[in-house]
Amino acid sequence: MSGAHPEPSAVSSGGSASNAGSRAAKAVAELKSRDRDIMLLTHTSAILGWDQETYLPAKGIDERSAQLALLHGLIHERTIAPENQSLLDAAGAPIGPGAAAGSSTDDAGAADGDPSLPPLDRAFLRRYRRRYERAVKLPQELVVTLAEKTSRAQAVWVEAREADDFPRFAPHLQGLLDLLLEVADRIGYDEHPYDALLDQYEPFMKTSSVDRIFTGLREQLVPIVAAIAEAPQVDASILERAFPVAAQERFGRTVMDALGYSRNRGRLDVSAHPFTTTLGFDDVRITTRYNERFFNSAIFGTMHEVGHGLYELGFADDLRGTLLAEGTSLGIHESQSRMWENMVGRSRPFWRHFYPILRSHFPDALLDVDAERFYRAVNRVAPSLIRVEADEVTYALHVILRFELEKELVSRTLSVKDLPEAWRAKSRELLGVEPSNDRDGVLQDIHWSMGGIGYFPTYALGNLYAAAFMQRINRDLPTLWNEIAEGNCSSLLSWLRTHIHRHGSARTAEELCIEITGAPLSAKPFVDYVWEKYRDIYGLD
Ligand code: ZN
Repeated sequence: MSGAHPEPSAVSSGGSASNAGSRAAKAVAELKSRDRDIMLLTHTSAILGWDQETYLPAKGIDERSAQLALLHGLIHERTIAPENQSLLDAAGAPIGPGAAAGSSTDDAGAADGDPSLPPLDRAFLRRYRRRYERAVKLPQELVVTLAEKTSRAQAVWVEAREADDFPRFAPHLQGLLDLLLEVADRIGYDEHPYDALLDQYEPFMKTSSVDRIFTGLREQLVPIVAAIAEAPQVDASILERAFPVAAQERFGRTVMDALGYSRNRGRLDVSAHPFTTTLGFDDVRITTRYNERFFNSAIFGTMHEVGHGLYELGFADDLRGTLLAEGTSLGIHESQSRMWENMVGRSRPFWRHFYPILRSHFPDALLDVDAERFYRAVNRVAPSLIRVEADEVTYALHVILRFELEKELVSRTLSVKDLPEAWRAKSRELLGVEPSNDRDGVLQDIHWSMGGIGYFPTYALGNLYAAAFMQRINRDLPTLWNEIAEGNCSSLLSWLRTHIHRHGSARTAEELCIEITGAPLSAKPFVDYVWEKYRDIYGLD
């Protein structure tokens, strides 16, 4: 009978596969519902955070901290809920041996869910399992201690920077470093403990890859910076004239609209440090700050945050409410902000359209300034001490300096007490300038006091991704720069939506990069872009 009627056995084996498939689909549905709650809590805490940076009255801070701590506790509880493990099992994405403390977290060999599941569900499982695995590896006590020490270290860093007193901050930095090394050990890594820290910001990227990319970047950038330093300097003093704040705000909003940032799904406010925050799928807010005597801060800051905002607003509708509706890495996020701020916002075509409009907003300050002089002023390159004030050429060198020191700290080949001197030496070597105090040196950034070792590389990776993507964009959109010269940025935005934004975190940074450029990330497109642009401005050859 069975020979004559093979169907029953086929049906039965198909039946068992489809049983597993339907079990998996049910588990995915349950995980998505759990994820939705986590996302709702995350966005709720983002509202409180946004309010804290913009409108919260000073006295409200204590209760606000308690509100946020409560929400973060709830988010953590749901993230590590034990049911996740059996649901991931049922979905065909079991927690691998990688979940054990001290071993690798590379997902490469692990199953991404039952093969019958749609690709988007498997991408969801990959991300969900990763979040769960990392969270369960860190004991509650370690997380709490790190949070406490960070908040203390930040307060001490503010005082130490004020007083130019590194030794006051040093023991706190040492304490954080010890805890971060424990975090790295528990999360696990293949090659370098720095991998585990970097991965929190740039998932799947290895220290050895950053090393390779930054080595090429450094070798090619240092001579360009040196050549620029020898060329006649561009006059940027026009940017320090009086630019009334109200007119800056009006002009900034005009640009914001032209870039395609929707006022129905976002808003612009003022904060001490500009940022972008996602309060919901249709609510992504940005902030900026105004300086009446320095034109660049507000306008380029606004364009930068618009770039982040457009990414967050560009996720495909079928990612709504899930953890896939997030930027895939900070490097990719930064590629979006830097592309709009620098590659578009500091280009001749952009100002061909916007400069006459700008001039009508500031008739007094710009009376004797033509578009070309303005373009050159906003592109002035000069090695300087402070990262956040650096131009787009020297910026990456500030990042390489921090990356190299961080790696040495994490490998324990550099001790915290020797950090200020190591900083000065690297600054000399990379930028040709040296801070005369620690306030403008090792104490200038908040990141280390927040336990953010591993964060800095993402800033420079963003520049490199942006330049790599732009090479492909220039091939795909041959009329782009003519359109931008007429104030029309829409084809760039729709290209970014199609190739980058809509995928959210369903694709990794490397997958995006290979799909778009045909190769893993390298420094070359950025170096080519810089050379092309600045040889013209500075008359190099
Ligand atoms: Zn940014």
